[in-house]
Amino acid sequence: MDKNIQHLRDIDDLSADNIHDIISRAEKFSADLAQKNDVSHLHRGKVGLSFFIENSTRTRISFEMAALRLGINMIHWDSASSSLSKGESFEDTIETLAALAPDILIMRHSEYNAPRSVARFMGCPVVNGGDSYRAHPTQALLDLLTIQQAKGDVSKLKIAICGDIAHSRVARSNATLLDKLGAELHMVAPEYLMPQDVGYKNATAFTSLDEGIKGCDVVMMLRLQKERMSQGLITSDQSYFKEFGLTHARLKHAKPDAIIMHPGPMNRGVEIDDAVADDPVRSMIRRQVANGVPTRMAVLDWLLEQNKG
Ligand code: ASP
Repeated sequence: MDKNIQHLRDIDDLSADNIHDIISRAEKFSADLAQKNDVSHLHRGKVGLSFFIENSTRTRISFEMAALRLGINMIHWDSASSSLSKGESFEDTIETLAALAPDILIMRHSEYNAPRSVARFMGCPVVNGGDSYRAHPTQALLDLLTIQQAKGDVSKLKIAICGDIAHSRVARSNATLLDKLGAELHMVAPEYLMPQDVGYKNATAFTSLDEGIKGCDVVMMLRLQKERMSQGLITSDQSYFKEFGLTHARLKHAKPDAIIMHPGPMNRGVEIDDAVADDPVRSMIRRQVANGVPTRMAVLDWLLEQNKG
């Protein structure tokens, strides 16, 4: 396959300039959506394939909506009703998809590095909609758009990423992206949910939530990813909430105008209190969901442009 294809498998596929380019396209698409401008002429006639072998609500719907807004015809390929369920190997399945020659492939997979393996077979750009605990680059991009809209230049901000960092692809992609752009990062997790090596240039690790969010402009909470945990790691939801749940009382440690983020799905009363999640001024959680569409439009538009001709 063509080695020169530009994919979005993880944040490392993007330079800082690429990131700024994608975010400025996202801002433009966001304005187009607000003004109900039809931009479906941009990629009319293209055919995209979405291939999600792991559950998704926000990511899958917003990718498909983004593609349709750009005029891309989408096919959703469902593993349960495919020949994978007849015993066809994953490799043969991917070779089949490659032979059908879509213009773009959007995928989610529970296995480590699956988009990288799939991209080797494909003659079109591959976009990672989340793989294992490793990468979720478009979530990081839409979070960046959300932070910039609320707080401006991220290189001037102190940002706390809090909770189940060990099992979170959102934490990894956000940390990689924000680190690249020079934000000051606080990686905040109880000891048993902190990866061995936080490994980011501008990051400091904290095991206390109160300490970790101190003076922060952004407090990003993460879901407890029980489906990726070994049993017994968490004694109970109540004890985790007591130890690491974000409440307004705790939020007082952050800056008075700090914003609250969460990629969803939320476990209310586990990592975040209802009143914080629904805070009408400081919670950006609904805005993150809404920003999924223009950000994914920007990613698709950028990738199709990079791979033109
Ligand atoms: N929706 C995000 C993901 O797919 C976050 C989560 O599931 O907690 O990784």
